Amino acid sequence: MAECLFCKIIHRDIPATLVYEDDRVVALNDINPQAPTHVLIMPKRHIATLNEIGTEDDQLVGELVRRAAAIAAERGLAPGGYRTVFNTNRDAGQTVFHIHLHLLGGRAMTWPPG
Ligand code: AMP
Ligand code: ZN
Repeated sequence: MAECLFCKIIHRDIPATLVYEDDRVVALNDINPQAPTHVLIMPKRHIATLNEIGTEDDQLVGELVRRAAAIAAERGLAPGGYRTVFNTNRDAGQTVFHIHLHLLGGRAMTWPPG
C-alpha cells in the first residue's frame, strides 16, 4: 500500500526505531509514547483494520500477541503487567489503517480507557 505510513516504515522508506523484525512481523517504538514502553507490533502484510482479518490470519494474529508478550517479558513488565490494545476505526480512535497492537507498560494504568 503506497500511501500507508506503516508500510513505508516496513519498506524503510521512512525511518523508525525497530525493536523486533522477522519474516512476517515488525515491532517499533511509538513516536508519541503514552507510557515508558510503548511499542507497536504489526504484520508486514498490509491489513487495514481488524475487520479485514480472516481465519487465514489466525496464526499471524497469534504471532502479534505472542511477540507483544515476549517484548513485555524481556523488559521485565510481565509480573507487574502491561496493556495490549488494537484500536479499530473511528470510535476507537484508529489513526493509522494498518493493524498494529499497542504494547503499553512501565506505569500503572486506569480502566476504563478514555
Ligand atoms: P492508532 O491510533 O491505534 O491508529 O495508533 C497509531 C499510533 O501510531 C499512534 O500511537 C502514533 O503515535 C503512532 N505513530 C504515528 N506515526 C508514527 C511514526 N512515524 N512512527 C512511529 N509511530 C507512529
Ligand atoms: Zn500498510
